[in-house]
Amino acid sequence: MQVVREKDQCTYNSVIVRFGCEVGVKSSKTRLYYEKEVCRHIRNLLEKGGVEHDVKYVFGRAYVTTRNAIKASELVTRVFGVSSASPALETTSKMEDIIDAALKIAENTLKGKKSFAVRCRRTGIHPYTSVDVCREVGGAILRHLKRDDLKVDLKNPEVAIKIEVRDDKSYVYTGEYEGPGGFPLGVQGKVVCLLSGGMDSPVACWLAMKRGAAIIPVYFDASPAFSDEASRVKALECARILFDWTTEKQRTIYVVPHEEALATIRKKCPEGYTCVICKRVMYRVAERIAEAEGAEGIVTGEALGEQASQTLANLIVLNEAAKKYPVHRPLLCFDKTETERLARKIGTYEVSARRSRGCTAAPKHPVLRAKLERVLEIERNIDAERLIEEALKKAEKVEV
Ligand code: ATP
Ligand code: MG
Repeated sequence: MQVVREKDQCTYNSVIVRFGCEVGVKSSKTRLYYEKEVCRHIRNLLEKGGVEHDVKYVFGRAYVTTRNAIKASELVTRVFGVSSASPALETTSKMEDIIDAALKIAENTLKGKKSFAVRCRRTGIHPYTSVDVCREVGGAILRHLKRDDLKVDLKNPEVAIKIEVRDDKSYVYTGEYEGPGGFPLGVQGKVVCLLSGGMDSPVACWLAMKRGAAIIPVYFDASPAFSDEASRVKALECARILFDWTTEKQRTIYVVPHEEALATIRKKCPEGYTCVICKRVMYRVAERIAEAEGAEGIVTGEALGEQASQTLANLIVLNEAAKKYPVHRPLLCFDKTETERLARKIGTYEVSARRSRGCTAAPKHPVLRAKLERVLEIERNIDAERLIEEALKKAEKVEV
């Protein structure tokens, strides 16, 4: 992917936006709806980023007219449903205008380069073919630059000058910024996310967002006895970073007091069962929030075997706690290094990696194969239902 240099900024007057590959294979009605939603997010994001713009939608593409094409491209590639964006020079589809625009781009981008190629894609009716465009533009560049050391190399060029002709307009560009792909946020409804502020759960949230689900994060605050203020701050900061990938007004995280529930669990249940019971309480609170918010699933950052509570056998017992909504685990089969790589891209890595006390209630030897009958018995003994009701009563909605 060729990246566009800042100093080329003044050459561009627009941005070509390509939609995620899966958007393009939907039925035409769904595709139209998804692509228009992506455009709505793009408009909101550019507005929020202070970039003047005019977004034009044509089936399969969006074109942004702007004087700040590089900043606009960077912003646009934070919109779910966008696969890539290219700062471009827009002109008419007349051959002489295409050549003029290509020469302007070539003057800047071919400096110090020894080879180039011209590539063209064309949609609409024109008195020339794509091959004609490549040939004419390539010849004009060689004549205009008059450089003996510059040659056309169609197979492995240092710079590819690309031309997109669409009906009465054309766009000349060289570089592409990569977007997240996926579906526009919200088209898959809403999910409640268990967000701890550790490395995993923010990444799990982002992956759900990438597939089109809006998120309602929930943080369980077990401080001061079993956690600390730093952990809470991390969770709120991660929520803020995740919401910066959206343009929706709702930026709320639920903070659920969890100290009392955890103290009761620790006191009354066999030590090895603490984590499994604690997580089941979280799921049940999350279900109630999902019900209230009209969400249709619960997302967690659990990964197979990452913690003792995340063995296959324990996940069966955890799943049983959520009666109404499925629990989704986007990271189930991720290695930590893969999760960390994504966390860096999303922007949550530094926050998640910051020191905090973590959970001090975790036992030394947690059970690896919890027995459901045993778990249900313990939950009756600790009156888990009452703990859930109390937690919900004290839950706070925090704007971030
Ligand atoms: P993370 O998985 O976010 O890095 P962690 O590894 O400390 O945090 P685990 O014990 O692996 O947490 O918990 C598995 C999942 O349970 C987390 O990914 C998260 O979805 C949820 N979870 C754990 N603790 C909390 C919490 N305090 N508040 C909300 N969700 C939590
Ligand atoms: Mg984890």
